[in-house]
Parts: sequence; structure tokens; C-alpha cells
Amino acid sequence: MTRTYPYAPGQYEAATGKQSGLEEFSYLCRRRWRFRNLGTWVVRRMNGKPYLSVHATGNACDLGYGSTLRDRQKALEACRWFTRPDVATTLGIVAIHDYSANPPRAWRCDRDAWQGFANGELGAGGRWLHVELAPRQGSLSRKDYRKLWKSLPR
Ligand SMILES: [Zn+2]
Repeated sequence: MTRTYPYAPGQYEAATGKQSGLEEFSYLCRRRWRFRNLGTWVVRRMNGKPYLSVHATGNACDLGYGSTLRDRQKALEACRWFTRPDVATTLGIVAIHDYSANPPRAWRCDRDAWQGFANGELGAGGRWLHVELAPRQGSLSRKDYRKLWKSLPR
């Protein structure tokens, strides 16, 4: 099932602060997979483009991981879980950038599939996942977001 992607470049505005649902999502991911927080809300433009980054809305996070094979496997495990139809829909996941895939790849809710970008279009990246939540889930309270997370099978 596909859903509309809510962040057409240039069609959204910067938030004035962190979004509690997204912050809880980042925290729960870090706790489960030992990822590191490489950033959530920051008002900046996309690399090399005139548009605001989705980070400006407060609904995107960067989750870092280490250089071992085991670290990469954890990132792939997270990607598989995030893209399950029940998980993606419930948690409001609308995009994932997996920069360490070869080629780098992005999942989007409006195609419900990964797409590879061999041409560098996904931008410079490394050992982190960029994950975006829909505005509705991103703005939930931490408590309400945690309830959604706990309602899902691991
Ligand atoms: Zn990012």
C-alpha cells in the first residue's frame, strides 16, 4: 500500500523546535539498535539545493552506526523492520535514506519500495540512516508515540 509523500521540496515550512514524536522515534531506535543520534531538528537547506531540508520540519532524524559488519547488519535489520507495511504505516515512516547501500538507496512511502541512486543524487552520506516521519506522527507526544511503537511486533 502506498501513501502520499508529505514533503514535496519547497512545499513545507521550518518548525520552531523539536517534534516530540520524532524525538521519541529517534530515542527508541537508538535504544533498540544502539544507533547514535546524528541530528534531528535543524533549519538548513538540502545539500546543494535551494529547498529546506526535511530536518527543518523536525520530522527527520539521522541515526549513526559503526563500521563493523555487525553494525551494518543492524542497520539493514532496522531498514527491514521500518519498511514492513504495518510498521511503516503505524509509525508514520515516509522516507528512509540508506547511504551505505551500493548504490545508495532510498525508500519512500509513495512507492513502497527502495530505489537505488548510482548517480550521487542522494547526496553525500556514510554510515547513517536518514528517516522521515509524517507530520501527524512526528508531532505526537513522546508517550503517545511510544504506545504506537510498543503496539508493533518486533
Ligand atoms: Zn538526515
